[in-house]
This record gives sequence, structure tokens and C-alpha cells, in this order.
Amino acid sequence: MAGSVLVLNATYEPLNVTTLWRACSLILSRKAEVLEADPEREIRSPSTTLPHPIVIRLVSYVRVPHFTSRRITRRALFARDEHTCQYCGGRARLTLDHVVPRSRGGGSSWDNVVTACAPCNLRKSDRLPHEAGMPLRRAPRAPHPDLYLTLGTRSIPSVWHPYLPARALAFVEDTTELPFAA
Ligand SMILES: [Zn+2]
Repeated sequence: MAGSVLVLNATYEPLNVTTLWRACSLILSRKAEVLEADPEREIRSPSTTLPHPIVIRLVSYVRVPHFTSRRITRRALFARDEHTCQYCGGRARLTLDHVVPRSRGGGSSWDNVVTACAPCNLRKSDRLPHEAGMPLRRAPRAPHPDLYLTLGTRSIPSVWHPYLPARALAFVEDTTELPFAA
């Protein structure tokens, strides 16, 4: 069974994206209910038939630790910066730039990495933004956890949209060409 299922908390707050298999086991154990299903398909087992879930909701509220450490990947970084070079606003040939260069002790933390296009990255070289005369468009910070809801998925089915905050859709443009792998 392939496919991704959006999981909402009991409060309808999106929690994460899970596999079809895991979603079915939550439904069968009555820990979740189906909110949106694919009308054209169902899941059959020897003993039962289930709707093919697309969005499910947990029956009991789950407390989620917010602002836990979120891994820095290029994908997450570009999504945080809305696929925009933080120096010139360009959207092509994006790279990861250390604001304080590593050669000068800058670390790989969310407040020291930004999206930069290749020409800006090259031009800035191992200088600080003010030394290079290249001010940042905004101060880098750790992204909101919402961003991570959808980063693990290949694409976002339109049925999910009403349940997701705008932030979680920030990277959609990256993947709209990919069909929903169900
Ligand atoms: Zn640039």
C-alpha cells in the first residue's frame, strides 16, 4: 500500500503526514476517524473493508512538543525563505549560504543560514553581509514547525489544502508538477 495520509489532531490541527498503512491501523484500532476519503477506492482486507483515507483525525488529543530541534536541509531552508535569494530576491540557482562564513566561525544553525542564489553566494564569498554591502532581506530564524508538516511528502493533494496552514504550503510550488503518488 502506498500513499500519504494527512493526520489531524483531535482539535483539527494538522499533526503530520503518515503512510496509508499506518493510517489504516489507526482507523481499525479506532484511534482515528476518516475525514476525507478517496471515493473511487477502498481498502480491503480478508475481514473488513475501509474507505481509502486521505485525511484522518485522531480521536484523542495528542500533545505535541513544539519548537523541538528541526533539522536543517536545503529543502527546509528554501521553503522557509520562500525559494527566494535573501540578498537579491532572485529565485534561480539557489544555494545555502552561511551568513557568518564557516571560515570565520559561523555555525550551521537556523539563525546563520539563508537561501542565496549562486551569483550572490559567490559575490559575498567569505565576507559578512555588511562587509559585502549585501544586506539580508530579513533576519534568519528557525522555521515554524508547520513547515515540516509537508516537507516529507512528494506532493500535496488538493483535498489537504483546507486543513493546512499557509506556511505548510510554502513549498508546494516546488512539487506541483509531481502527481499525488497514491
Ligand atoms: Zn541573489
